[in-house]
Amino acid sequence: EDAPAIALRARSIEQSFGDVEVLSGVSLSVERGEVAAIVGPNGSGKSTLLNVLAGIAASDDGSVSIPRGRGGARSVGYLPQRPAFREGFSARDTLGFYAQLLDGDVADDVAASLDRVGLGEVADRSVGSLSGGMTRLLGLGEAVLGDPAVLILDEPGSGLDPAMVERLFDVVGDLAADGTAVVVASHELPAVETHADTVHVLDGGTFAASGSPAELLAETGANSLSAAFLRIV
Ligand code: ADP
Ligand code: MG
Repeated sequence: EDAPAIALRARSIEQSFGDVEVLSGVSLSVERGEVAAIVGPNGSGKSTLLNVLAGIAASDDGSVSIPRGRGGARSVGYLPQRPAFREGFSARDTLGFYAQLLDGDVADDVAASLDRVGLGEVADRSVGSLSGGMTRLLGLGEAVLGDPAVLILDEPGSGLDPAMVERLFDVVGDLAADGTAVVVASHELPAVETHADTVHVLDGGTFAASGSPAELLAETGANSLSAAFLRIV
């Protein structure tokens, strides 16, 4: 394939709420197949940044470029921090509802998505009967409908037990291995250390540090990403 290596490029993103400048010039490039993690303290602006990258919110300044997909739409999938689903629908029908909004074959898109997140066996159960982890996988399934070039995930592991966090990050790693560019905000630093190619530490409106997990450990002299994080923020 001759698709360009850079899938997402954000330049000098600025965003204020009232007098509070949350993002003061954040730039980010993510390649196809790369898992880029955004970590940072609560309130540092991770969700604000992801909303801008996903096109959910407009920023005050800066630009975001993402490849075009079907029908000329931006090829991006987004998992919000608090996904909400109707509990009475099955997982399959839930994905079907969202797949109808895309310009493709609904049944094919749903089947591919269920397969990619490993929910095929529970596809006909009601959403209300699924565990928290399964529900989060369903959110990931919605985000990957139509096979977007860029996947934006806001705290996919929050509130899940460590085994489920691992399962989720394994799925994310598989999606990246298939060429998807992933941006994931996360507090699960052990999982980030294992699964992310690059880590950007958002603090004070900019990236206080960026690099591979190994680079951040070397720069800070820490022996884990959790320890490195505490030395950076
Ligand atoms: P994080 O995801 O890193 O926890 P957020 O991006 O949610 O941080 O929030 C960053 C800051 O911006 C916080 O101080 C939050 O209160 C503020 N903020 C976020 N969204 C809005 C909004 N729509 N209106 C006003 N303030 C907001
Ligand atoms: Mg957030």
